[in-house]
Amino acid sequence: MPEGKIIKALAGFYYVLDGERLVQCRGRGLFRKNKITPLVGDEVVYQAENDLEGTINEVRPRKNELVRPPIANVDQAILVFSSIEPAFSTLLLDRFLVLVEANDIDPLIIISKADLIENEALKDQILSYAADYRENGYPVYQTSTESMDGISSVAPLFQGKISVIAGQSGVGKSSLLNAVKPDLALKTDDISTHLGRGKHTTRHVELVAIDNGLVADTPGFSSLDFTGIEVQDLGMCFPEMRERARDCKFRGCTHVAEPKCAVKAAVEDGAIRDYRYEHYLSFLEEIKERKPRY
Ligand code: GDP
Ligand code: ZN
Repeated sequence: MPEGKIIKALAGFYYVLDGERLVQCRGRGLFRKNKITPLVGDEVVYQAENDLEGTINEVRPRKNELVRPPIANVDQAILVFSSIEPAFSTLLLDRFLVLVEANDIDPLIIISKADLIENEALKDQILSYAADYRENGYPVYQTSTESMDGISSVAPLFQGKISVIAGQSGVGKSSLLNAVKPDLALKTDDISTHLGRGKHTTRHVELVAIDNGLVADTPGFSSLDFTGIEVQDLGMCFPEMRERARDCKFRGCTHVAEPKCAVKAAVEDGAIRDYRYEHYLSFLEEIKERKPRY
């Protein structure tokens, strides 16, 4: 039976991309029985009725599943942070990185609006942050959609992957996607007009083709709280802590007040950046204070 990937869900239909072909499929009663709702991003097995229509028979096991926007099998999150306007925030970046790590998604950090940096001190500061994040294993790119610097390096990174793009409003997410693929905005606008809803509704999500990859047309991680992340998981979401935690004396060390903590030792000797550790501590407090959900 043929297989494909759901790239759009609308009005009870799932649009399955199978090679070059887009097949409009219905789900089956099967899904209601098994309590599985197909999601955009799902790999499915379907039965073709003709070239354009079919029925989904099976949803392949998911690698991961985002809630907002509802999308499965996300490979990478493109985290866009502007150098300025709005100001670059490592606190917000670290928050996104934790959410991305916890969902088993690869992050890619884009520092946008490089052309707007006039101040030398800010320029050095941004370069030094970029070096820190690279050292922790994260790819970092500086871009400008004004001068187009960095765009040709970023474009191929979409290839063969399902990406979500995330970041504060106004950082340049749409501009970046348009720079990579100029006809994309037109396409998303058409869709929102068609739906008679705003572009940023979280109910509708569609994967659009970009440089041989697929990207969600809705910004990812619209909810930035740590629901589902437990105290003992948090350290695992910081690569430089994850590595050193094996040398902590106590199993389940939270790297706060425990003796012989390898993470705290690394913070003291400068191997782990102070600001990363401070963000870890503040996120840990937030998780501890979290009210139980009813
Ligand atoms: P989004 O809300 O993240 O999608 O941000 P937009 O792409 O709408 O961009 C917000 C504003 O920043 C717009 O006025 C863009 O023209 C501007 N902008 C985005 N990227 C750049 C850039 O690289 N350089 C400059 N100078 N302005 C940019
Ligand atoms: Zn420790």
